[in-house]
Amino acid sequence: MTSVNDIRSTFLDFFARNGHEKVSSSPLVPRNDPTLMFTNAGMVQFKNVFTGLEKRPYSRATTSQKCVRAGGKHNDLDNVGFTARHLTFFEMLGNFSFGDYFKEQAIEMAWTLVTKEFGLDKDKLLVTVYHTDDEAADLWKKIAGFSDDKIIRIPTSDNFWTMGDTGPCGPCSEIFIDRGDHIWGGPPGTPEEDGDRFLEFWNLVFMQYEQSGDGKQEPLPRPSIDTGMGLERMASILQGVESVFETDMFRHVIDATASAVGRAPTPETVASYRVIADHLRSMSFLIADGVLPANEGRGYVLRRIMRRAMRHATLLGTNNATIFKLVPSLVREMGQAYPDLVAGEAMISETIRLEEERFLKTLSRGLQILEDESAGLGKGDTLAGETAFKLYDTYGFPLDLTQDALRLRGVSVDQTGFDAAMARQKAEARKNWSGSGDAATSAVWFSIADTAGPTEFLGYETEDSDGAV
Ligand code: ATP
Ligand code: MG
Ligand code: MG
Ligand code: MG
Repeated sequence: MTSVNDIRSTFLDFFARNGHEKVSSSPLVPRNDPTLMFTNAGMVQFKNVFTGLEKRPYSRATTSQKCVRAGGKHNDLDNVGFTARHLTFFEMLGNFSFGDYFKEQAIEMAWTLVTKEFGLDKDKLLVTVYHTDDEAADLWKKIAGFSDDKIIRIPTSDNFWTMGDTGPCGPCSEIFIDRGDHIWGGPPGTPEEDGDRFLEFWNLVFMQYEQSGDGKQEPLPRPSIDTGMGLERMASILQGVESVFETDMFRHVIDATASAVGRAPTPETVASYRVIADHLRSMSFLIADGVLPANEGRGYVLRRIMRRAMRHATLLGTNNATIFKLVPSLVREMGQAYPDLVAGEAMISETIRLEEERFLKTLSRGLQILEDESAGLGKGDTLAGETAFKLYDTYGFPLDLTQDALRLRGVSVDQTGFDAAMARQKAEARKNWSGSGDAATSAVWFSIADTAGPTEFLGYETEDSDGAV
């Protein structure tokens, strides 16, 4: 069986043989971009190289990049456990050309890697291109021998990549595999595209324009290439399984979870095992990169991930701290590729254990309240924003934990009511403030409280710049 570790090295070695420098993954907290919540694509560490601000001693690179897509613009948190392909933490394999080769060679190498090295069946593959990108469509015909019906022209921004409002941009081309009509779903561009039959596994971005402030796009003198392939998705394809959660690495972590909770997954409970395994990876890697649970910003996204995993552990029948016990199984699976995980193991376990112990004190009481307050609600109903706020404020339930808990029943949360309750509480705190009476001092105090206070939840509001491939 082709393991996740084999796939990673096949990809990196192939591009190294083709003149690419192997570059290490950058940390999950981007060093060069304060507007971005977490590194969410391979190109993030190369942003300044693409714009020409930074020079490197190579013009081709290949990486396996740790990515987190939770919080901010590219948020896959709600998908996890419910689609076959979304994780909050995943590895993105990529090859990059900084003004070196362009479209033709990028497509040629991608095609060779996919069909020769990974041996995928050509007849099951199809691609999307941006609707005006005839050049890419012609290259796919020439290189892969695709007929027109295998080259889907997409007019939306899904196939036109921009770094931000200004800077390099260009069309992209995504490679999909058709996994057969026993799986529900339709090809990209159809109403059924959210199904899992057609799986996107690689995105090739052709950076060929420079966008200026007024929205004008001028051709770049030396166009560049940026690609991203989901390692876990490729593993699900090569291992012949239907979801990323059935690949070798996840199976081992899910087995460890089953022994920790003392029961094996069933069709009713499997989503909880998947959420736990995914969230275990993202929390461990975030902690290893220096993020700690907190009430705002990045730390709050981490806390949301941790608490959500903890609720799922209680759904599986545990009452004690459990998630921290799974860390060794993750380190066994991924420690070789990521030595930081090994070095940080004790700190990761301890951080998780402390957060579990803290949250478990209020979790069961909060769940009881949630159950009572939502007892009469069914599909299409809404939980009062006040209740969601009480759970947040008194029991430490992040809003999305409450939403996640109600989702399977089709119950949503009145977010406007939640926001209003939050605003009311802040106003109340201001009114009751009996400090020195010095207006200037209280203004300062409140602005500090607003950014650092325990009821702040920047995690929902902070918008990322677009860092995806
Ligand atoms: P999707 O449409 O499936 O959400 P995407 O178009 O958002 O994917 P890209 O931004 O193009 O994904 O990222 C490049 C590649 O990274 C994808 O082709 C996919 O293989 C992988 N990838 C993206 N998001 C995830 C995720 N949440 N979990 C696992 N792999 C992912
Ligand atoms: Mg996506
Ligand atoms: Mg896509
Ligand atoms: Mg894509």
